[in-house]
Order: sequence, then C-alpha cells, then structure tokens
Amino acid sequence: MVNRPLLFLDVDGPLNPYAAKPQRRPAGYTTIRVPRNTAEDDETPSFRRRPLRVWLNPTHGPALLRLDYDLCWATTWMNEANRWIAPVLGLPELPFVDFGEALLQERPDGVHWKTGPLVDYADGRPFAWVDDEQSSLDELHVAAHHPGPGLLHHVNPRVGLAEDDFQRLAEFALGF
Ligand SMILES: [Mg+2]
Repeated sequence: MVNRPLLFLDVDGPLNPYAAKPQRRPAGYTTIRVPRNTAEDDETPSFRRRPLRVWLNPTHGPALLRLDYDLCWATTWMNEANRWIAPVLGLPELPFVDFGEALLQERPDGVHWKTGPLVDYADGRPFAWVDDEQSSLDELHVAAHHPGPGLLHHVNPRVGLAEDDFQRLAEFALGF
C-alpha cells in the first residue's frame, strides 16, 4: 500500500506492563532482565544496580506484524529495542526514532517530549502512536502540526496491549 501508516511503538507501558502488580507476572508474559548501563551509574550503590526486569508477551510481535502498518520504535530504548525487545517478541529489526537532545526533556508547554520528534519523523505520513503517556496537549499539538491523520492511542501500563487495542489500530489502518 502506497500510503501505509506508521505505527510508533512505545515499549514501557504498551509492551512491558511495568505498572502491573510487581509480585505477579501477567499471564502470557515472559520475563527478561536487561543489564543497566553501568557507565552512567558508577556512583550508584551496587544493590541498586540490579538488572531491569521487563515483561514481554511473545504473541505481541506476530499481532503487530499482522497490522497494516510500518512499525517503528518510539521509545527511550531507541535502538536498544532491536537488541533486547524485538527478538523476544519475534519482530525483525525495526527503524527507530532517534530523539537526540529531546530524550526525556520536559517541555514548558506540557507537550510530551516525544510528540515533536514523532511529528517530524512522520513528515505528513499518517501514523498511530501507541504509548501510556500522551495527554490532550499532545492531541492538540499533533492536530496543529501534523497535516495527515494521527491516532494517539493510549495503553494502560498496568495492562499492556490487549485485543481491543489491536482492533482499534486495525480499524484506523483501514482508512488508508
Ligand atoms: Mg511508556
């Protein structure tokens, strides 16, 4: 399809339901432990440098690939998502948005730090953005600065991507 939309994928929240009850891995999920970047952490006591626990659902990769989108990472993991997340989900190496200086930088206007870079990356192409952190300010920003259709799809970080999310994304892609 010529005008296939982009699907911007956040990791923590939609794919890793980090806010679920910590003692109990959600059904269908597997656990990976990712070493933290110790280079930045030299001052951190060793007991706080435990690997990061990430829950991932291996059915999510095939379900995402069945959608009529071009997938793209939109996450603080940036290219590390290809190393740690993609293989567990059964996804190929994907392009990623390089947030550069914008990474984790709060904006005074309350727009999410990802929003501007995602609009730039899309460059007018229709997109859906799956994340657990968008707000109405982001909706307004996208409406004002993105000439094509844009779906900001919020996912509960206690639950992660579920069947109704995939349905909504499939419906949106039908419009192109
Ligand atoms: Mg997130």
